Amino acid sequence: MALKGAEIMKMLPKTNCKECGYATCFAFAMKLVAGGAKLEDCPYLDPEVKAQLEAAMAPPIKLVTIGTGENALSIGEEEVMFRHEKTFFHEPGIAILISDKGVESEIEEKLKRINAFDFERIGQKLSINLLALCFESGDKDKFEALVKKAYETTEFALILISEDTDVLFSAAALCADRKPLVYPITNENMSAAVPKLKEFGVPAGVRGASIEALVSVTSDLKDAGIENMVLDPGSKNMVEGIQNQTLIRRAALKKGFRPLGYPTIAFPCFMYPDKFKETVAAAALMTKYAGIVVVSQADEHFILPLLVHRFNIYSDPRRPMTVEEKVYEIGNPDEKSPILITTNYALDYFIVSAAIEETNMPAYLCIKGTEGLGVMAAWTSGKFNGEAIAEFFEKYGMPDKVKHRKLIIPGVAKKLVAELEEDLPGWEIILGPLEGSDIPKFLSEEWTA
Ligand code: SF4
Repeated sequence: MALKGAEIMKMLPKTNCKECGYATCFAFAMKLVAGGAKLEDCPYLDPEVKAQLEAAMAPPIKLVTIGTGENALSIGEEEVMFRHEKTFFHEPGIAILISDKGVESEIEEKLKRINAFDFERIGQKLSINLLALCFESGDKDKFEALVKKAYETTEFALILISEDTDVLFSAAALCADRKPLVYPITNENMSAAVPKLKEFGVPAGVRGASIEALVSVTSDLKDAGIENMVLDPGSKNMVEGIQNQTLIRRAALKKGFRPLGYPTIAFPCFMYPDKFKETVAAAALMTKYAGIVVVSQADEHFILPLLVHRFNIYSDPRRPMTVEEKVYEIGNPDEKSPILITTNYALDYFIVSAAIEETNMPAYLCIKGTEGLGVMAAWTSGKFNGEAIAEFFEKYGMPDKVKHRKLIIPGVAKKLVAELEEDLPGWEIILGPLEGSDIPKFLSEEWTA
């Protein structure tokens, strides 16, 4: 939001007619700033003023969508330079490069491997987003065969890469309904590309040899009516990439510079032949501030770290990840099974439940709602103290589920023992191990004994 409430107010009709649902034009202006009202709510806005306000109030970085349906990737509309200032909103896409130069059986194998990716962390499915199909063979038929194969055998969003503009748009025609990103659109091919971009309604991957060159291309494309762009400042290595990406983000957010107000793409796959350096560059560029990173590796041990890194950066620091408060029955527990308790901080739940599953010992895992606070933070705020846990036991009928009277609590919650002995009379409170990884050994040895 570039405008302040008072500035918007000056552009409103100032009749205080209340038809927008607010008592005054000023109240409406303030609500617009807060994002709670729409310009359409005022029927008396002059169309020219409305257009000016729309332009001024547009997000500093445009939201661009590549692909369609469930597998569409939306990037952009970021509001801050640093995650701790608020949060990052749209996680960057990870694209895997497939060249048409490869042997057919190798391409098949790579596609099969990518299709089989199935990672989960803290209950979230982690996945790559795009296939970047690259024309390098010099054989148009071969490239089109690759595009058809990726289109027909996978559901990923697509990036089409070709220095030959005719080949680029012939391939785009084959998969236009999946709204691929077509790359590169440059100063040189712009006039040929614009009619095709409009015809297919696909986003443009815009490349400039420098940021200055990029500004000139995006300005011309915008004037030609192209709205959806993803920017490549042509960085040759990781350091240059971070510098360029940071400059673009700063210009868009801090200066409101519209020609750079688009999400970006980076190509670690073309920066380093070494797989490890490529992966490090991809992680760094996702951190600052690429909207898409294209990597050449489809091996799990290169992709998984990137997926986890992205997951960590793009989780909302304002809201801890939580799971539902309830008693989780792991492996059909009975009246002799152990009872363990922890908080509903998602990481706590997944560590403890995975450790219990590892033992093959049926158990009750009590997850006490603490608004996502971990054990000690929840204890100090009164959400995981003796009284709260006693209430939980009552609510979920724990005394009726087992014949024993033993409760295993997290090893870090030593201070809870005395409280619980008072609030759960007749129960033996057992301090579990400090580390989740020691739970299987603890259960096998201590509980069995
Ligand atoms: Fe003001 Fe328009 Fe609301 Fe009427 S409808 S109070 S003119 S903002």
